[in-house]
Amino acid sequence: MRPVASSSPPRNTAPLRAPRFPILTVDERKLTPALGYVFNRKWLDPCESLVSILWKFERANALPGHVVARLLGPDIDPYEGVVPQLGIVDVDRLHESLRVPADALRAALLPAIPRRRYSGVFRFCRRCVAHGYHSVLHQMESNALCPAHGRALVSACETCGYEAPYRVNVRLLEATYHCAYCGASYGGQGWTPNRSPWMTAEYRRAFTRQYFQRYFG
Ligand SMILES: [Zn+2]
Ligand SMILES: [Zn+2]
Repeated sequence: MRPVASSSPPRNTAPLRAPRFPILTVDERKLTPALGYVFNRKWLDPCESLVSILWKFERANALPGHVVARLLGPDIDPYEGVVPQLGIVDVDRLHESLRVPADALRAALLPAIPRRRYSGVFRFCRRCVAHGYHSVLHQMESNALCPAHGRALVSACETCGYEAPYRVNVRLLEATYHCAYCGASYGGQGWTPNRSPWMTAEYRRAFTRQYFQRYFG
């Protein structure tokens, strides 16, 4: 006969709080090229944004976004994330972790300009993002068109209309080249390390010219 009262602990009394993402099992302080994580500076395109660089880093090293989000620093909540802007992101720390040149990282950040001058949501050119490229210039409110393709910049997912906040956080980093809400592609396969370079000399000039006009012209 089974006892009426059981001595085993009651079940299902704790609220179900399944983590939205897997718990980090990699010590981010060890996430360095010494363990085989790589970033080839030849993969960088001119005026590439930090989001674009981090997506490439994830693809090249088969790392999930929640691991890469921790590279931002111990003081930053990876789920909340940060606006990728100069003075907010710790460039030295990222340079150490990613081995991306510090000047490329600085160029990948929004300059220290008022909030109204850049888009608060991820804004992109479908043709560029299909190749796995997003530029800091795509975020500038003064640009309605992609400097390379002349196509209208967009921010809403074509499938569900979601606009992703322009913050480097787990959600955006997990969504490489896809809508973070419904998972629809933003326009193509995105970038992979063995792809041949796509950006023509003409496109490179278009981005670089506009970058210097905007900031130094
Ligand atoms: Zn474009
Ligand atoms: Zn969507």
